[in-house]
Amino acid sequence: MDNKIEKKILLIDMNSYFASVEQMCNPALKGKPVIVCGRGRTVVVTASYEAREYGIKTGMTIPEARKLCPNVNIVYGNLDKYIDTSLKIHKIFLDFTDRVEVFSIDECFIDVTDVENYYGGAENIALIIKRRLKYEFGLTCSIGIGPNKVIAKLAAKMKKPDGLTIIPQKKVQDFLKELSIEKMQGIGIGKHLAEKFKKLGINTAADLGNADPMMLSGYFGILGQVYKNIGLGIDYTPVRSYYDKPPVKSVGHSYTFPQDTNNIEVIKSYLLMLSEKTGERLRYYKMAGKTVCIFIRFSDFSHIMRRNTYPHYFNSGVEIFKKSIEILVKNIFPLSKKVRLLGVSISGLTRITTQEYLFEEQRKNKKLIETVDEINGKYGQFTIKPLSMKIAENFGILKKCGVFTTRTWKK
Ligand SMILES: [Mg+2]
Repeated sequence: MDNKIEKKILLIDMNSYFASVEQMCNPALKGKPVIVCGRGRTVVVTASYEAREYGIKTGMTIPEARKLCPNVNIVYGNLDKYIDTSLKIHKIFLDFTDRVEVFSIDECFIDVTDVENYYGGAENIALIIKRRLKYEFGLTCSIGIGPNKVIAKLAAKMKKPDGLTIIPQKKVQDFLKELSIEKMQGIGIGKHLAEKFKKLGINTAADLGNADPMMLSGYFGILGQVYKNIGLGIDYTPVRSYYDKPPVKSVGHSYTFPQDTNNIEVIKSYLLMLSEKTGERLRYYKMAGKTVCIFIRFSDFSHIMRRNTYPHYFNSGVEIFKKSIEILVKNIFPLSKKVRLLGVSISGLTRITTQEYLFEEQRKNKKLIETVDEINGKYGQFTIKPLSMKIAENFGILKKCGVFTTRTWKK
């Protein structure tokens, strides 16, 4: 018998999150059918529970949703608002422990093993969290409690909305016996995989746990063992601390001009080039930042540094460029001296998950950026580049561009 202390891990899943946030921000939408969608030709991203009663589901087109409920309220999603609300919600969790791992924009794991006794047990913590979310935000959530992340995640799916499901270690085996393979979505077993399992005679989680490991690795390679562990309800991955810092603290690029200049157009076009490179590097690290810093060294070697922090995270070159120009115009222009060196850097970094890109436009924009990065990675930097970068190219040699990246975190 394993006599280690049984872990108590919570998975908190906000119910119809985007639609609920919209209802919270606009009381006129409360209790009404609401769908959140992107702009243009798009689909339902989230439907409120009132809208779901009409049969409206995520992924439907707007005309389909309207057909089911002609009075449905359509709201264009505002991702910044949802991220902002998430960050405020995290503060509630952090009142208990720093073992808070963000899983997606509306889901967090919390490991309360070390602190549950201060609050009368894990279940009580879950109830306090539910109450605070309701009173402070008017939002509901479903919570699963289990001895590891996989079980907590599966438990949270049991009851929606506003559920609380607790599966202690001693009940795990019974729970898995009852759990059909289709209900294991969200922990790495998608629809197609579930179908494949069923063809192999695996209909429940327990069937998966009992399956012959040789057969599983024959079909799924090294993932075979991973699936078997999921079926057995085994998961050793820890809940990371909320304060685990990204591997990089700031990312930036600087450039020394081939000759000192006070030509605004030349400076702007170099700024664009530096912003593009900085954005590319941020995306390489899968990060976004919200503080832009501009550094200028003048011909007499005096220097000026100005920074500004914005409310939202970004990592596209264009966004960095726009903000850099803002700082230049507000704090540095008009130039009194010629410029020798120009630098841009981004700090206030965060990791970004793909789940943050839920809306069509952002998805398209992200796809475009990824394609550009891929081509540039293959054929050399700036194979594809914004037009005004031409000015910079004509003025000097791009290769002289210096890179600086500050690493402060090791693992
Ligand atoms: Mg949710």
